[in-house]
Amino acid sequence: MSNRTNVIDVSNLYKAYGAIRAVDGISFDVKQGEVFGMLGPNGAGKTTTVEIIEGLRTPDSGSVTVLGIDALKDVREVKERIGVQLQTPAFFPKLNVRELVDYYGSLYKKSVPSSEIIDLVALDESRKVLFQNLSGGQQQRLSVALAFVNDPDIIFLDEPTTGLDPQARRTLWEVIEGFRKAGKTILLTTHYMEEAERLCDRIAIMDHGHIIAMGSPRGLIKEHFAESAIQFKMTGYPGREALVALKGVTDVIEEGDEIILYTGSIPVTISALLELASSRSAELSDLSIRHADLEDVFIKLTGKRIRD
Ligand code: ATP
Repeated sequence: MSNRTNVIDVSNLYKAYGAIRAVDGISFDVKQGEVFGMLGPNGAGKTTTVEIIEGLRTPDSGSVTVLGIDALKDVREVKERIGVQLQTPAFFPKLNVRELVDYYGSLYKKSVPSSEIIDLVALDESRKVLFQNLSGGQQQRLSVALAFVNDPDIIFLDEPTTGLDPQARRTLWEVIEGFRKAGKTILLTTHYMEEAERLCDRIAIMDHGHIIAMGSPRGLIKEHFAESAIQFKMTGYPGREALVALKGVTDVIEEGDEIILYTGSIPVTISALLELASSRSAELSDLSIRHADLEDVFIKLTGKRIRD
């Protein structure tokens, strides 16, 4: 991946809204053909970053190059070559699927035949349905499809699956994986860990306008955790010290009434935990054992969960 050409180069980007430093000095690049994710909680600065790259907002300082073009100067040239997922409420409710795809295609010099776009997101059977009568998942799929209408080199998807039920989310993931197989470069923002882990080659984790970690999902987890996680609730909290002292434990995170122990050895720590509970007549509940994931990386780096 590292030998591939950079299609996006962002360097020392800053953008403040009054006292809010929405983007506070970030630099990253996106390579040809990769799915690059920006992951972070609400207000982290993802949308501001992406919209600066798309030419929709102006930064206070920094540079952005897209496909070798200075994206802060030649905005029009960039717009012809990128695809942007439009937010659905802006669509004409009385146009049907096919009419909407045709309409958006007509806005570009070059466009993909509408039947191809409609097939791509499995809306063929609904092509004559008015936008207002589509289900939420279908509307979202259509908005993603429209990012493809000008056969762009880079596609920007801003929280493409927010608000969808799990089934609709999976369907949309398949659509995005199809884009990737077609060799497109995709930059997507999300606050779903699972989505980032499944779809992205690399991710930048953002918080408070900063990139706090960047790498492949597996690489980030490996870098921060050689361990697994034991998660549970416990009556009669024994105190952090007692938990940290349990055999095998490398770190402890407490979140409300939930406790997460990170350990290099599940059996050793589990048996120590059971002993501790029984010595204090405490009860354990909701116990689960899992590999560390991106959520754990985020908690470790920021002390909080990505979603409230
Ligand atoms: P979300 O997941 O909620 O979309 P985000 O990571 O995309 O969040 P941004 O929308 O970029 O974050 O917002 C970053 C910060 O900048 C937030 O504190 C937000 O309130 C603020 N902000 C964003 N746009 C504006 C604006 N036009 N005027 C003032 N403040 C803004």
